[in-house]
Amino acid sequence: MYRSHNCGELRMEHVGQEVKLSGWVQTSRDFGALTFVDLRDRYGITQLVFNIDDDADLCEKARKLGREFVVAATGLVRERSNKNPNRPTGDIEIEVKSLDILNASKVPPFTIEDDTDGGDELRMKYRYLDLRRGPVQDNIIFRSQVAIETRKYLSDQLFVEVETPVLIKSTPEGARDFVVPSRMNPGQFYALPQSPQTFKQILMVSGFDRYFQIVKCFRDEDLRADRQPEFTQIDCEMAFVTQEDILNTFEGLTKHLFKTLRGIEFGDFPRMSYDEAMTRYGSDKPDIRFGMEFVELNDVAKGKDFAVFNNAELIVGICAEGQADNYSNKDIKKLTEWMQRPQIGAKGLVYVKVQADGTFKSSIGKFYSDEDLKTWADKFGAKPGDMLFILSGETEKTRKQLNELRLEMGRRMGLMKEGDFKPLWVVDFPLLEWDEDLERFHAMHHPFTSPKKEDVERMLSGDHETMKQLRADAYDLVINGVEIGGGSIRIHDRALQEKNFKLLGFTDEEAEAQFGFLMGAFEYGAPPHGGIAFGFDRLCAVMKDVYSIRDFIAFPKNNQGRDMMIDAPSPIAGEQLEELNLQLDLKSEE
Ligand code: ASP
Repeated sequence: MYRSHNCGELRMEHVGQEVKLSGWVQTSRDFGALTFVDLRDRYGITQLVFNIDDDADLCEKARKLGREFVVAATGLVRERSNKNPNRPTGDIEIEVKSLDILNASKVPPFTIEDDTDGGDELRMKYRYLDLRRGPVQDNIIFRSQVAIETRKYLSDQLFVEVETPVLIKSTPEGARDFVVPSRMNPGQFYALPQSPQTFKQILMVSGFDRYFQIVKCFRDEDLRADRQPEFTQIDCEMAFVTQEDILNTFEGLTKHLFKTLRGIEFGDFPRMSYDEAMTRYGSDKPDIRFGMEFVELNDVAKGKDFAVFNNAELIVGICAEGQADNYSNKDIKKLTEWMQRPQIGAKGLVYVKVQADGTFKSSIGKFYSDEDLKTWADKFGAKPGDMLFILSGETEKTRKQLNELRLEMGRRMGLMKEGDFKPLWVVDFPLLEWDEDLERFHAMHHPFTSPKKEDVERMLSGDHETMKQLRADAYDLVINGVEIGGGSIRIHDRALQEKNFKLLGFTDEEAEAQFGFLMGAFEYGAPPHGGIAFGFDRLCAVMKDVYSIRDFIAFPKNNQGRDMMIDAPSPIAGEQLEELNLQLDLKSEE
């Protein structure tokens, strides 16, 4: 009725056939005797031609078509005299015999082309138009393929897809919950899941053995380019497994996805402990597409007259290859200021240039002889023309700051190459993290994570300092500096779980009220189990070398957490509030 073919499939072999196409008018060009219309659908663009000599009325009708009109055209496929090699259908065109206008369109507020003139907010408001654009559609279709291939791979591995509820009780993944008032239980609230963590563990107790779900999760956090209040996970759990089994299974999934959808084959993924990642890169998600690894200088830089270094807990630097000539004093000043912004908070930045004649130029040259600096340069393996950047201070902070500099230099030096994918497992995360401000421990991953077997005894009996040293069977998959996912082996023993809650500052009553069901389940034959979740939106983005997840979400929210198209969130009617037993008492700002 509407079409015999789509707008992307006609080729030379179809020449001479009568066809019918339906789609949107991309452009219409009027050359007097001839009118050309580009007709677009999801599959491509095909050129329609109207000849005034063949049918003047029809040609007139075509001339009046506006952008984004929906039409159906019937005609003959013919070879184009002026071929367009940039388009798969560029060898042919349709000599139109009849044209139905199926729907008119207002002039769209931005151009529906690969490169649009529309700003972010406008495109979000008219998301249905933005979603007509080729690159946006490609991303959403790619996402669908990643989901399909994930399902194929995991079901081949005997995983069962189980849906877990959306109206639940809070799960502590470290963020704020979105809550939903319960009409039938006045004064009570559901929480939307931050992840299906407890449910998937319960499914292991129930004997499902291998669970997965491509599932929406909700976290009420401040938003950034790579965060959305609702996002999707590939969520998994396995019983009777060790960390090794889980890493192998999900390394397999990642390889399968890259191979089938990007044609990229990986060898075995390297692994690095959390401690090593922090020491070598100052980050638990290092981008290992490039080196520029940290070199510590405590043993060679202390003991001279430079008090800043003498007083520092850590002196550490990176070597930017071949950059000495690229940084004038002014450039260095700018870079130093960049490092001193509150987001990074470095106090200063020391540089050492290795010069062609074997001498050195440095901001701290008066404290160190060339001989001293040569020792440093040797530690870095630096050559003439290279430039060292050195930071000092408290260990953790200094590493974080140098990580920012390393990434910035990587960007500036073009070392983060598109199409170069470098996966990495980071393993052996600490179990607990001490929060100086709140003076309490947080679970580094989440409270269900098991300490390593060899650390269980220490956890049960150790002191405060010991707690900081406990290691967990917890792991993250990182690709190109982006955390794709993480997981852990879980506690499956009630007593150990209780102890962990206690360390995290829960009273027995709180632990029981929130997680009594899980600890109860552990008393009925819980198998050893563990799992992982991949950030699905992020995985799609990284696989396509894009670093904003928004591009892979059909209906994303803006930085204020608003859906601009449907205009949500929004107030609700008074009766609705009453029914929910809610009273709004919004204090107006003075
Ligand atoms: N629930 C965890 C998360 O959302 C993943 C896991 O431990 O399996 O990060």
